[in-house]
Amino acid sequence: MDLKLNEQQQMMKDATRQFAEQKLIPQAEEAERNDGNDPALLAELAAMGYCGIGTPEEYGGSNLDAVSYALMIAELSYGDASIGVTVSVTNSLTQDPIMMFGTEEQKQRWLPDLATGKKWGGFALTEPSAGTDSAGTRTTAALDGDAYVVNGTKNFITNGGFADTFVVFVRGDREDKHHGISAFVVEKGTPGFSIGKKEDKMGIRASSTTELVFEDCRLPKDNLVGEWGGGFKVAMKTLDNGRIGIAAQAHGIAERAFDLAVKYAKEREQFDRPLAKFQHNQFRLADMATELEASRLLLMQAAWEKDQGLRHSKAAAMSKLYSSEASHRICHAALQMHGGYGYIKEYEVERLYRDQRITEIYEGTSEAMRMVIAGSVVR
Ligand SMILES: Cc1cc2nc3c(=O)[nH]c(=O)nc-3n(C[C@H](O)[C@H](O)[C@H](O)COP(=O)(O)OP(=O)(O)OC[C@H]3O[C@@H](n4cnc5c(N)ncnc54)[C@H](O)[C@@H]3O)c2cc1C
Repeated sequence: MDLKLNEQQQMMKDATRQFAEQKLIPQAEEAERNDGNDPALLAELAAMGYCGIGTPEEYGGSNLDAVSYALMIAELSYGDASIGVTVSVTNSLTQDPIMMFGTEEQKQRWLPDLATGKKWGGFALTEPSAGTDSAGTRTTAALDGDAYVVNGTKNFITNGGFADTFVVFVRGDREDKHHGISAFVVEKGTPGFSIGKKEDKMGIRASSTTELVFEDCRLPKDNLVGEWGGGFKVAMKTLDNGRIGIAAQAHGIAERAFDLAVKYAKEREQFDRPLAKFQHNQFRLADMATELEASRLLLMQAAWEKDQGLRHSKAAAMSKLYSSEASHRICHAALQMHGGYGYIKEYEVERLYRDQRITEIYEGTSEAMRMVIAGSVVR
């Protein structure tokens, strides 16, 4: 792996950091209070090309590599973790399955609007009784003439409140747990499809998380993505890519927390000296810097493996596992460095501490990541 970013990757990193500092950080606190980012900001991100980073140009995207994608999500998350996941889901979780498994007709039908941000995407795998055990999907799809009739509820769906195009996983008539699942694209406005309860969350509060409800919702056969019964494979391959995005989100949050901790340690004085003069705090910062660097390297490794066309399930799981848990430790240490002020909402580190927590849970919990890694270690 070449550790040096190429010119285009460096540009992505620098331009997105600048955007994060100028536009995202200043609005993050208010967006959290409003439980949502300003639609105008989302439109601006779309206009800047952030919605179709890896999508080929012929479908309206930028056709950039996974390293650029990871850098972009990390830098967006440096500014606002809610924006990081919102953009990550519309890119990797929605467009990737259509790109990897869709027909040419389906790509032309759905990708251009998603890649240009005219429409936003969502990915609906989780259900109230099917979380880590995602093959436990109970939302049903029954063939009726030229359509599948879908019934059931998906929960915890990112972008649920405002997205237009969802990749949804349903159970068909096959008995087999894993081979009984199929993937469909569902568009907002389809009769029988509605948005359910909005979740009141601990962190990433500006990102939208809702239920999706299906009541005798008729989906045309043409909306089936991949093979009938091939949905579990669609979901797992998609999540291999998505996890690079969540690792990047965790890394971006951790980097922001680290920068704030360094700044605070230099400014805050106790016992007539800045906190940074105490060796204990220096060692704390040294540990944080080391974990941040390890997280960056694993992230770059996973993205690089994807760019090489290598099977990257293990690398993506390692990256997500490590980055999210390191981000937990880094945010904890950054808050501790701030003392009582870190516990006060006025200080950004308080939000980072809460925003970070979800990175250890969604797109596969830390335990699920250990299962994936163990699966390739213990054969
Ligand atoms: C804010 C938010 C956004 C989300 N966005 C989406 C989205 O866009 N799309 C989507 O489909 N889902 C989404 N999710 C769902 C998320 O992916 C699930 O919450 C996650 O996969 C865990 O499932 P669960 O909550 O049902 O926990 P459970 O599966 O019930 O797990 C509970 C605990 O048990 C552990 N556990 C479970 N099984 C095992 C095992 N075999 N061995 C060891 N430990 C185990 C888990 O690791 C966890 O610690 C989101 C969730 C949240 C909170």
